[in-house]
Amino acid sequence: MEQEILELRKKIEEKVKLIRKTEDLESFRLEYLVRKGAVQSFFDRMKEAPKERKAAIGKILNELRNYSENVYKELKERYEQGSQASPDIDLTLPGKRNFIGAAHPVNQIMQEMVDIFNSMGFSVAEGPDIEDGYHNFDALNFPPDHPARDMQDTFFIESKNNALLRTHSSPVQIRLMKAQKPPIRSIMPARVYRNEAISARSLAEFHQIEGLYINKGVTFAELKGTVIAFAKKMYGEQSKFRFRPSFFPFTEPSAEMDISCFLCGGRGCRICKHSGWLEVVGCGMVHPNVLKECDIDPEIYTGYAFGFGIERVALLKTGIDDIRLFYQNDVRVLEQF
Ligand SMILES: [Zn+2]
Repeated sequence: MEQEILELRKKIEEKVKLIRKTEDLESFRLEYLVRKGAVQSFFDRMKEAPKERKAAIGKILNELRNYSENVYKELKERYEQGSQASPDIDLTLPGKRNFIGAAHPVNQIMQEMVDIFNSMGFSVAEGPDIEDGYHNFDALNFPPDHPARDMQDTFFIESKNNALLRTHSSPVQIRLMKAQKPPIRSIMPARVYRNEAISARSLAEFHQIEGLYINKGVTFAELKGTVIAFAKKMYGEQSKFRFRPSFFPFTEPSAEMDISCFLCGGRGCRICKHSGWLEVVGCGMVHPNVLKECDIDPEIYTGYAFGFGIERVALLKTGIDDIRLFYQNDVRVLEQF
């Protein structure tokens, strides 16, 4: 009987090494620790033991019971604390690293811009990537001979003007004004396409964010106030601004806003081409022809529109000097944001 108890002890010690989870521990308990379990059965058989060995057998049997119960208690506590580690796992080994995904830098910048405009009361509107000549050019007051309509600049899908990849975010304005009566106050993030040679400064596919506000009595002063308020949130309160006259077919008057270069503080550097200024937004008052085209009476309503190039903002914010890096999907670059 002594021999049998010692064998059981060995067997239990082997079993303990195999316990990995709560279920293993439970089957261990059912096999050895319950009233009808293997350990208890020896207590029931103590009366068979020879009288002179009774004390010695009782001792090893008690030891076995204490050992089994302690192991059980210890493992149970450990599992209850949430650790599944078994005694023979080497805790000194280096852990496995989990790689966590993150938003692409261009997406992060776009989201940041959307959040700022949302806080200023602009809703978000979207339109299709595949447009027609009417929404992309005609309704936006592009004259028939405008160079943007040329095959050199635009990706046409079908014969001229029927289907093309939108070259700017402005066709979404047209769709919005045709679908909704003023007041309209929306921003339109959009992926746009141009048939351009790919270089450190330009891509054939990039993103714009367009803003549009149409209401009674909207003025150029409000346009200035809005883009300046946005740019201060985006680039910092200390930024200085200047407006230059510009030209777009769909706005009149048109302007471009520059911001004092925040990389050199206006002293002049490579990024601002030593001018101290960075071009950030094209804008203007919506052209009366565009309003008329959308059945909005320009005698009653006025409005402004503005457009940012998102990659340009991302380049300036991240300090990356080659726009192509955003789309080469090199994890070593993307991980930095
Ligand atoms: Zn500079």
